Amino acid sequence: MMDSILNVGLNDESVAGLARSTGNEEFARDCYRRLIQMFGETVDGIPHESFSVDDTVEQAREIYERETGHGFPQDARDQLQRAVTAVFDSWNSSRAQVYRRTYGIADDLGTAVNIVQMVFGNKGEGSATGVAFTRDPSTGEQGVYGEYLVNAQGEDVVAGTRTPQPLAELRGRLPEAYDQLLETMAALERHYRDMQDIEFTVEEGHLYLLQTRTAKRTAAAAIKCAVDMTAEGLIERDEAVAREAVILVRWETTPDDIHGLIQAQGVLTAHGGMTSHAAVVARGMGKPCVAGCEDLDIDSRTKTVRIGRQQLREGDVITIDGGTGRVIVGEVPLVPPAINEDFETILEWADDLRRLKVRANADNAEDAAKAREFGAQGIGLCRTEHMFFGEERLPVMQEMILADDEAGRRDALGRLLPFQQSDFEGIFEAMAGLPVTIRVLDPPLHEFLPDETDATDERMRRRIRQLHEDNPMLGTRGCRLGLQWPEIYEMQVRAIARAATAVLERGGETPLVEMERGGETPLVEIMHPLVGFREELRRLRELTERVMEEEAPELEYLCGTMIELPRAALRADEIAEVADFFSFGTNDLTQTALGMSRDDAEGKFLTFYLEDGVLERNPFEVLDQDGVGELMRIAVGRGRETKPEIKLGICGEHGGEPSSVEFCHRIGLDYVSCSPYRVPLARLAAAQAVLHEAKRAEYVQAGG
Ligand code: PEP
Ligand code: MG
Repeated sequence: MMDSILNVGLNDESVAGLARSTGNEEFARDCYRRLIQMFGETVDGIPHESFSVDDTVEQAREIYERETGHGFPQDARDQLQRAVTAVFDSWNSSRAQVYRRTYGIADDLGTAVNIVQMVFGNKGEGSATGVAFTRDPSTGEQGVYGEYLVNAQGEDVVAGTRTPQPLAELRGRLPEAYDQLLETMAALERHYRDMQDIEFTVEEGHLYLLQTRTAKRTAAAAIKCAVDMTAEGLIERDEAVAREAVILVRWETTPDDIHGLIQAQGVLTAHGGMTSHAAVVARGMGKPCVAGCEDLDIDSRTKTVRIGRQQLREGDVITIDGGTGRVIVGEVPLVPPAINEDFETILEWADDLRRLKVRANADNAEDAAKAREFGAQGIGLCRTEHMFFGEERLPVMQEMILADDEAGRRDALGRLLPFQQSDFEGIFEAMAGLPVTIRVLDPPLHEFLPDETDATDERMRRRIRQLHEDNPMLGTRGCRLGLQWPEIYEMQVRAIARAATAVLERGGETPLVEMERGGETPLVEIMHPLVGFREELRRLRELTERVMEEEAPELEYLCGTMIELPRAALRADEIAEVADFFSFGTNDLTQTALGMSRDDAEGKFLTFYLEDGVLERNPFEVLDQDGVGELMRIAVGRGRETKPEIKLGICGEHGGEPSSVEFCHRIGLDYVSCSPYRVPLARLAAAQAVLHEAKRAEYVQAGG
């Protein structure tokens, strides 16, 4: 992401010396031309387009003088000094900042500038430069992967200005260097015990390695590699599991394209190959990239492209296949990523290691089944609001809201009950044998009514005005709603009890057959949202117990609450007296602890905060461990003081984010719950948390 400048030290005099000592004037002039251009762009800020690869030294110097108003510096020390400063300054370039933002790299980390002796891949036909991978970074397959260019400097390969040749062809051209490269690659992989991405230069037949680093790779390649390397005895199982954190990685074409790359779903370029920056960055981001599509002709002025005989304009749909390099006009149905055998293997190893259980947030039978397929060990959050929507349900819900008295509300709710019961039956069946946490209604009632202008009659208009709130996020929602209109929660608890009974009577294994927590009875888990005071939960627990007793006295269940308010976290000791479990609702807890409404923050001031470095990560995506996390830690401690066996989980979005999962492990939660597609990631993250903990303990023991 930082800049580099090659061939520093050349000037009008030394270029003649280089020509003499190498006997190759063309080469010396090529080096000097490159220096003037790179120096001009990086140090003096001359636009890239001002130069061309076909410029002569004289032309490049003229352009330099015209653009800067002074001649190209002839003093080598002066060149070096200015080059070093420019490279340091590139730490603050906007692309470096965007890059750090995207990957959570701290701004104050600092950097270094390396000054190294040059070797030259542009010394003629016996010289070359290239990039090699020890395995295929797209698939993880073993083999020779990479690209090279004869008579070129490294910059030509990575910038994609010339389309390189497949590495295997180097064997025919420079056989000795090729064999030596393969041997060295194998040695490096053995040494680092991981796939390597190597930059090399061959100068007149001699091989030089410029750098080696752990290769960026697609998720599929990461998994294949980890499993294969375990089979080859290169790494242990623990390490295979631990490595999956570095699946998401990055790189770029013209570094200035980084903004576009982040936004894009995939990348298609006319030049460059699999090792050009575009391909590397895209691979790292898990995005498809087709690089070096030479039939592509782009006219940025008219915003049109031609691919072969196809003319396309902005807004036309194309599909790209980064695996085969195919570009298809139109939309091709996409297949959701499946868990292949290798990934399954890693996940099983992870399951053997982790302590945290992983559940899913799922609101219907289909999502529950999907979550189970991905290895979820129950449902940590079943939101019930959508059960009030739908063609047949919403009018009844609106009737309930508009009713003048309790009798009218109960009548409407009675008609909603069978719908909810059948929804719960589907979920219980999909999750047979596993716990299911159901949250009773949370959102404010106005969400079920149209805008005032769309009201069907005066009565509805009046009710909409009555229910209007200036700040509904902090208004009549969650348990506040349930306490004012207890008949709503009564209906929901009744529907849950009847669904569980019906599934039991059908002889299915139900969530009543507890498999968690060593044989204790299981549970339907009924969860009350937005509790801040013990008294709120005490009353709702009473309601829950009364209805359960009426409907299914034999049924065992838990009654608990979400912890979504700072007060609830601080008074967790009191709340635990009437709660069987806590589930941290970190979406709301983040909003209420930070005093930020998510809707008013994201895309607005929070974007500025992230771009300007006030915050490093979006706290709605990555748990604010120091603030929100501290409240969680307090709640865990105080809750367990009152009730050591209290069950603790998280169901906010952070429950599927790896660093937040690790935090949940550290503070001793029992489970994390996340969207079904994140379940595999959470399983891995939970195992990695155990491995990191063991590493830390080792380090401390060793006196670190
Ligand atoms: C939460 O607040 O974290 C939560 C899971 O509830 P919701 O996102 O539905 O408000
Ligand atoms: Mg919430």
